[in-house]
Amino acid sequence: MAGASLRAGELQFGYSKRYFFELIESYPFLRNALDGVQTPSMVINLRGVADRIELLKREFEGFKIFYAVKANDHPEILRAVQEKGIGFEVASSAELERVLEAGAKPENIISSNPVKPPDFIEYAYRMGVKTFAVDSFAEVEKVSYLAPRARVYVRLAVPNEGSEWPLSRKFGLDPDTALEVLLYARDKGLVPYGITFHVGSQCNNLSNWFTAIKNSYHLWEMALSRGLRLTMLNIGGGIPIRYLRESLRPEDIGYYVKGLLRKYFPTSPYELQMEPGRGIVGDQGILVASVIGKARRGGENWLYVDTGVFNGIAEALGGIRYPVFVEREGELKEWTLAGVSCDSMDVIAKRIYLPEPEVGDRLYFLSAGAYTTVYASNFNGFPPPKVVFVS
Ligand SMILES: *Cc1c(COP(=O)(O)O)cnc(C)c1O
Repeated sequence: MAGASLRAGELQFGYSKRYFFELIESYPFLRNALDGVQTPSMVINLRGVADRIELLKREFEGFKIFYAVKANDHPEILRAVQEKGIGFEVASSAELERVLEAGAKPENIISSNPVKPPDFIEYAYRMGVKTFAVDSFAEVEKVSYLAPRARVYVRLAVPNEGSEWPLSRKFGLDPDTALEVLLYARDKGLVPYGITFHVGSQCNNLSNWFTAIKNSYHLWEMALSRGLRLTMLNIGGGIPIRYLRESLRPEDIGYYVKGLLRKYFPTSPYELQMEPGRGIVGDQGILVASVIGKARRGGENWLYVDTGVFNGIAEALGGIRYPVFVEREGELKEWTLAGVSCDSMDVIAKRIYLPEPEVGDRLYFLSAGAYTTVYASNFNGFPPPKVVFVS
């Protein structure tokens, strides 16, 4: 391997290796679990999930936290989250049913999905969920009809620059239209309650929070001048975790966001909310897969594993790069990691540096707890990873 890429490879594999052994050191019970599972399995560290929630509570003091269920809706996770006493953010009837089963109270459940199916609104309202996001006149109309007198908060479009999973093109309004939507909600008998935004998932760009909070302030003041006193600000999700790159930490973002709030929202009595998904479960899942084949083609070293982008590693298609570790020593080689299916799209990563594994070796995909098993299908007859919980 050439000098420059060798250095890159050493940095990359060194990083993944350090991450792996840090995890084992912090949570020694992971060792046995990882050795004992069949592959492919997703090992979820429930104690780590609880620790992440504690960290967010500490760094975002004063915020009410709602776990964004779509990141991972497994009942065991929902129960662990419920035990920590935080709320839930749901988008569908099935998610709502699951969080109610986990013991959540309706007053601790919100839906920030800005465009909801009518039967979901009806079901949620019937179950006592009375707080919904909107970002269009049509949605206000629908909510006013199906959930009379509900509280609504408006979704602002904010920059998603540098976020690995942008969401802003699909949802959100400019401040002027957002104001009109809130006024329309009041006319329709709903309670205009607050503002929400999403800086984009896996957001490593502090300035997205800056612009979002500044624009929220702007809307808040415009609303006040029209006689609308809002009471709630919801800063959405976006808390990043480390993948093959280090990320901002909740400490960094909490410090920065609290500073912005002191500047822009210093006096008004208001309620603060946040809805992290990835930031709670993402770095607490390890996907354990086995090498099932090796080949050299097109000048590349190919490594085939017993799971793939259709069985949980879907975000790889959008550019998420998981740290990958194998317990081998030796000279590093550059690999293209391929999934188990016969589809040529099923490529998990290029430019992964590993000592040469043998068929049968285990690969560990770190930071695989969010947006993985929830995406998985049985395509080509290969099932999603078995989910194993440890604590
Ligand atoms: C997906 C989503 C979240 C969670 O986002 P993360 O980046 O995983 O924290 C929060 N709120 C809404 C409305 C979402 O759609």
